[in-house]
Amino acid sequence: MHRHLIAFVFVTLPLTAVLVEAQPGAKSESGLDLSLLDRSVDPCTDFYAYTCGGWTKNQPIPADRSSWGVAERLQEENESRLRKILDDASKGGDAETRKVGDYYASCMDESRIDARGASALQPMVDKIAALSAARDLPPLAAELHTIGVGAFFSFGAEADFKEASVVRAIADQGGIGLPDRDYYFRDDPKSVELRKQYLDHVGKMMALLGTTVRLKPDTTAAATSTATTSAATTSAATTGAGTAGDAETVMKIETALAKASLDVVARRDPAALYHRTTPAELQALTPSFNWTQYLAGVGAPPIDTLNVTVPDFFKAFDQLIVSTPVADIRTYLRWQLVHASAVTLSKPFVDENFRFYGATLTGAKELRPRWKRCVQYTDSDLGEALGKAFVREAFPASAKEDTLKMVRELESSMEADIKGLSWMTDTTKQQALVKLHAVANKIGYPDKWRDYSALQIIRGDAMGNSQRANQFEFRRQMNRIGKPLDKGEWEMTPPTVNAYYHPLQNNINFPAGILQPPFYKAGADAAINYGAAGSVIGHELTHGFDDEGRQFDAQGNLKDWWTADDAKAFDDRAQCTVDQYSAFTAVDDVKVNGKLTLGENVADNGGLRIALMAYLTSVGSSGGKTLDGFTPEQRFFISYGQSWCTNSRPERERMLAQTNPHSPPHYRVNGVVSNVPEFAKAFSCKANAPMVRATACRVW
Ligand SMILES: [Zn+2]
Repeated sequence: MHRHLIAFVFVTLPLTAVLVEAQPGAKSESGLDLSLLDRSVDPCTDFYAYTCGGWTKNQPIPADRSSWGVAERLQEENESRLRKILDDASKGGDAETRKVGDYYASCMDESRIDARGASALQPMVDKIAALSAARDLPPLAAELHTIGVGAFFSFGAEADFKEASVVRAIADQGGIGLPDRDYYFRDDPKSVELRKQYLDHVGKMMALLGTTVRLKPDTTAAATSTATTSAATTSAATTGAGTAGDAETVMKIETALAKASLDVVARRDPAALYHRTTPAELQALTPSFNWTQYLAGVGAPPIDTLNVTVPDFFKAFDQLIVSTPVADIRTYLRWQLVHASAVTLSKPFVDENFRFYGATLTGAKELRPRWKRCVQYTDSDLGEALGKAFVREAFPASAKEDTLKMVRELESSMEADIKGLSWMTDTTKQQALVKLHAVANKIGYPDKWRDYSALQIIRGDAMGNSQRANQFEFRRQMNRIGKPLDKGEWEMTPPTVNAYYHPLQNNINFPAGILQPPFYKAGADAAINYGAAGSVIGHELTHGFDDEGRQFDAQGNLKDWWTADDAKAFDDRAQCTVDQYSAFTAVDDVKVNGKLTLGENVADNGGLRIALMAYLTSVGSSGGKTLDGFTPEQRFFISYGQSWCTNSRPERERMLAQTNPHSPPHYRVNGVVSNVPEFAKAFSCKANAPMVRATACRVW
C-alpha cells in the first residue's frame, strides 16, 4: 500500500548520482569507464553526449523500467542483496528477522493473494457503504488515513516551521489520483487524452472491486473473509450505478480538490505553506467536518495549534462535502481505498494499476518481477529492520569514516566559497557561516534504530500486514506531535540510493545504499570520487542555501537572516538560473520549468563548484597526473557527467518535467558545466563553443 505521509516539496532529493565503476573489459588506469564515452562528439559542443554516448547507445531501458541510468543500476544491485537477506530471513531467525521474513514471504505468496481477490477490503468497503451523511465522515476519513488511504486531505506531523524544535500536527491538501493538481486542468491534447485514460482506469478498478467484494453490507453474512466466491453474482446488481458513472463522480470530486490545491511551484514557498491554526479556527474553516471526531479517530494527542498548510483547500473541502450527494462521497472513498490498496491485491488489480501508473504515465513496458516489488514494499514498511541487515553486509565502519572525511572537506570548501563571494556583504556572510557550521552530517544509517516490536506481522496476510504497517507508521507520526523534534530520525531507509537535505533540521543525510562502490570507492582516483560523490555531497550542502533553504536559519526555523540588499542580489542571480534552464526542452513540446527546478539547479551548480574546490585542495600543488590521456580536471568533469548517464522513456520525461523539481539528467550535466569557467579551461573550449556561456549563471 502506498503510504500517504505529508510530502514536503522542499525536502529535496537529488534522484541520485552514481559513480560509474569500470566494467569488465573496459580497463582504464583511472577507473573511469571509458566505454561510456563517445569520442566522436566534441566535449565543448555537447558534454553529456561526449561522456554518456556509450551509455545512450549500449544500455537500453529494461522492459520493467521507465528509465535506466547508473543510479538505477546500483539500485538493482542493492535489491539483489536485499533479496538474499529476505530469502534467508523468511526461513527464520530472531524476532525482528522473522518479522521481516514473514512480511516478505507473505508478499511473495502470490497464489494466496490471488485467491483472496479484494476480500480483505470487505470490512472497509462495508464501513464506507454505511456512511449515510457527510457529517459522519470524520471517523471514517480518520480510519482510512491510518491505513494509508488518501481520502480528501492528508494529516501528519512535522516540525513547526517557525519553532522547529517542536513537532506539530499538519493538515495538507491531498485526495487526488493524478500526479499533480495541474493534470486536471491542462488542455493540450496529450493532457486531455491522459484524463480519458485516467477515467478508464478508475472505471476498471471500480468494476474489479465490484466483482470481488459485496458493495452493500449484508447483515446476514457472518464472515467477510470468504466472500470471494459469492461476490461476483451480487455486485453489479447492488450498485445500480455503472462504473463509467463512478469514474465521472471520482473525477468531479478530485477536480474540485485539485482546483483548491496549490501547484508545485507555489509549494516551493514555505511561507505559503505555513498557517499556524488553533483547532477552533480549523473548525471554523470547515463547519461541516467535525475535527474533534477526526482527531480522536486518528489517535492524535491534545493539540493547541497545528499547521494548516493551505486554508483555502480546507474551505473548498468543506464546500465539497456539503454539496456532494453522499452516494458520490461513498464512490470516491471506494476508489481511494482500492487505489491505495491495488499493489497488495490480486493480479487483476496489480495489472490494471500498472497499466495506468506504470505504462501510461511512465512508459514502462512490463511490471517489475514480483520479488523486486516485494523487496521494495518490505523496505518501505520495515525499512530500518531490513536496513540493519543491509548495513551489516554492505557498509563497514571505514565507509562511514571515509564519507565523513569527504563531507568535512566539502564543508571547508563551502566556507571558502562563501567568504569569497563578491555579491554578499560581510553581515550576511557571517550568518551564512553560522548556518553552515551548524549543518549536522548523518551518514549511512540511524544511530538509534526504529523499534518495530509493536507492529504485528502475520505470515500469509499480505494485505493485513500492509495495513498494520501503515497504522504503525501513522501512530508513530501521531506520537511525535507536541514533542521535541528528534533530528536523529531518518526519512530514507539505509538501502536507498539517494540523499537529502532537511531544511527544518539543517542536516544532510546520506543512506548506506548510495555510499558504496561504485558510488564512492575507497582508494579510487580522487578526481573520480570528488567528481561524482563529492558533487552529490556539495549538492546537498548547497540546498541549505538555495531559494528555499536560504529562508531557514541554523536551527531550521523559517527566519530571514539576510539583509535586504543581499536578498535582492541572491534573487537576481537566481533569476539568471531560472531563465537559463527555462530555455531547455525536456521532451517534445514540454520545456524545463525554471522556477520549479531552481533549487535543484542552484544545488547542482554550487555542488559541482565546491566539489571541484575540495578536489583541487586535496591534490595540492602537485596537481595530480594525467591518466588514460585525461588531466585530473578532465577526469573530475567526466566523472561528474557519467554519474548522470540515463536513458528515459518520453512518458516519464514528460511526467517529471511537469512535477519533479530536478532537471533532466542531460541538463544536470550540460547546464552546470557550461556555467563553470574551469570546465572550458580543462577542455580548451573556444569562447564561442556551445558549452561556454556568454552569460554564465552563478549563485554560490
Ligand atoms: Zn537536491
